[in-house]
Amino acid sequence: MPPQASPVANHTACLAALRAAAIACGRDPSTVSLLPVSKYHPSSAILALHSQGIREFGENYVQELESKAAELPSDINWHFIGTLQSGKCKDLCRIENLSVIETVDSLSKATKLNNQRAKHWPNHPITCYLQVNTSDEPQKAGIPSSDLNQLQQLVEFFSSPECTTLRLAGLMTIGSRAASTADGLNPDFTKLSQLRNALNEKYGLDLQLSMGMSNDYKQAIAQGSNEVRIGTDIFGQRPTST
Ligand SMILES: *Cc1c(COP(=O)(O)O)cnc(C)c1O
Repeated sequence: MPPQASPVANHTACLAALRAAAIACGRDPSTVSLLPVSKYHPSSAILALHSQGIREFGENYVQELESKAAELPSDINWHFIGTLQSGKCKDLCRIENLSVIETVDSLSKATKLNNQRAKHWPNHPITCYLQVNTSDEPQKAGIPSSDLNQLQQLVEFFSSPECTTLRLAGLMTIGSRAASTADGLNPDFTKLSQLRNALNEKYGLDLQLSMGMSNDYKQAIAQGSNEVRIGTDIFGQRPTST
C-alpha cells in the first residue's frame, strides 16, 4: 500500500509506471491517460495535485462531487465515475465543470442527461462513456456485455441530431476482482475491447477504452486501455470504504 501522505509523489510514480507499462507492450504512452480518483479523500489532497497542474479528477458520489465542485477551483474537469441513478442526472448536469460521465448505462438516462444539460449548460457538452458489465456480476452496474443491441441503440442515440449536449468517447468497465488479481489476459478487458472494436467497425467511430484501477492497470494497458482510473495508488487507502 503506498503511503497516505504524498499524493503528488504517488501521482508522479504512477505516471512513470503507466508509461513503463505502455512502452513494455509497444504502445505509445501518450495514448493512455491517468485519471486520479479522489472519492472520500479531502479537498486538500486534490488541491495538492491541482497545484502541479493536474485538472482531471474522478468522483463517485453526486453529493460529494457537488460540494467539492463548489469549493474547489472551477478549472477542474470533473469525471463522474459512480453508479448513475436516474434521479441524480439532473443534479449532475447542473455542475458546470462536470466534463465527463463514465457510467451511462441506459438510453433513458442518456436522454435525461442530454435534456438536462441542454437546460442548464447547453454550451458545455459532457463527454460520456458507456459502462459495460463485462463480468456479469449482478451487483455491478452497466449494460450486460451480451446486449450488443442496447449498446448499438445508445451509440445511435449519441450520433443522432437530437443529442446536442453529450459526446460519446468510449466504453468503460470495472472488471471483477477475481479477474483483476489473476495472471494473464483479463477476460473482462478482452470483452470490452472486442465490443469496442465491433462498434468502431460498424459505425466508423474511434471509441476509447476506460479500464484499469490500482490493482489491474498494467494488465489493462497491455490490453489496450486508453484511460486508467487510479485512487488508492495515488491518494492512499480510502478513509471510508463502501
Ligand atoms: C474507486 C474507483 C476507482 C479507483 O479504485 P482504486 O482501486 O482505488 O484505484 C476506479 N474506478 C471506479 C469506477 C471506482 O469506483
